[in-house]
Amino acid sequence: MQSLLKISDRAAAMKPSASIAAKKIVADLQAAGHQIVDLTIGEPNIATPAHIVDGALAAMRAGATHYTASAGEPALRRAIAAAIEQEKGLACGPDNIVVGCGAKQLIYEAFAATLNPGDEVIIPAPYWVSYPDIAFLHGGRPVIVRCGQDAGFKLTPAMLEAAITPSTRWLVLNSPNNPTGAVYSREELGKIAEVLLRHPHVWVMTDEIYEHLCYDGARAPSLVEVAPFLFERALVINGTSKAYAMTGWRIGYAAGPRPLIDVIVKMIGQSTTCASSVGQAAALVALTSDQACVGEAAAMYRARRDRMLAILADAPGLDLYTPSGAFYLYVGVSDLLGRMTPAGKLIETDLDFSLYLLEEAKVAVLDGGAYGLSPFLRLSFAASPAAVEAGSHAIVAACKALTGQPGLAAITAQAAASGDVING
Ligand code: PLP
Repeated sequence: MQSLLKISDRAAAMKPSASIAAKKIVADLQAAGHQIVDLTIGEPNIATPAHIVDGALAAMRAGATHYTASAGEPALRRAIAAAIEQEKGLACGPDNIVVGCGAKQLIYEAFAATLNPGDEVIIPAPYWVSYPDIAFLHGGRPVIVRCGQDAGFKLTPAMLEAAITPSTRWLVLNSPNNPTGAVYSREELGKIAEVLLRHPHVWVMTDEIYEHLCYDGARAPSLVEVAPFLFERALVINGTSKAYAMTGWRIGYAAGPRPLIDVIVKMIGQSTTCASSVGQAAALVALTSDQACVGEAAAMYRARRDRMLAILADAPGLDLYTPSGAFYLYVGVSDLLGRMTPAGKLIETDLDFSLYLLEEAKVAVLDGGAYGLSPFLRLSFAASPAAVEAGSHAIVAACKALTGQPGLAAITAQAAASGDVING
């Protein structure tokens, strides 16, 4: 019988999240008995620290099991505002804060609340997979600006200036970045702020979810702390998922000017009502207790990063870049395009290479196409040390097993097919 389900044009055109799709493929393969090393994961493999779990249990027993205000529990919003005031030196009160079911919901509601058909959203590539699709779902037009390795995978003031039009509604800036781990310096942010000063109609969404996962003494400054005048037209996105290993608790938060926060709160009131009361209680403990667990987690990821880089240094053809933050390597594979696998398959794209790794080396990684910049692979070092070790060695062996010289034709084809670049 023919299905009667009618899917909206926008939902039909929306791509599923590449990382969620990869998680399912790996789970299906593992359930079918295949031994797959999973380097696709976008979340810490460690448990939520015990004091946070204990705090949530106590809160549940004390009755924190009901709906909360749509904006979030006042105590949590006060704690978030205080942290922002203290860390970023901004005048920020609880009314400037909204709590959501993960940072993702807040990005979703912010675009839902502000985009009209044809409004443009500038998204530097490589980007976190969900920005373009969420913008598109709400009638926005993602304007993808490619920021190659030569630019440190970062947006330059000139690129931004060239991408702004009268229809630009938002610039999305993500530092530390998923997938590259690139961190913008104060100077770089200052220059971006100068461009935004000339274009008062452009708002900026600064996604700082990896803020506390920085390495080698790096600190990720926020655009709004470098240029406080921008806080009037900014939405600062953050959450507990990455720094506190709390992805499943689904707590994110956003800070911004009152009119924007109020409309997001209204949207939440008509969608999820509020974030989980238990998750909010846990987030309050996370943010207000000793922060040693965050430093320990960062030191652990740094050690895994260094181990992965050390092993991969032996892989012929991989172009390695050391990330300053987050927990991913974004590895260039252009030298491997045009080579043959032992099974006689030609590697023409980074997607082909990721499939070769999955099929032959039994390592799951994500291809750069999903992040809007090819030919690259994203390797997660939030995986267990054993997975980092085994996966990296398997990748080295897989690179060594390729034969032939890179074919120029393949590289040209890859460049032409690499993503939906509208601008930049
Ligand atoms: N922003 C970036 C850059 C991310 O990488 C992620 C998750 O992978 C999110 C936002 C969403 O995080 P949350 O778990 O808070 O929804």
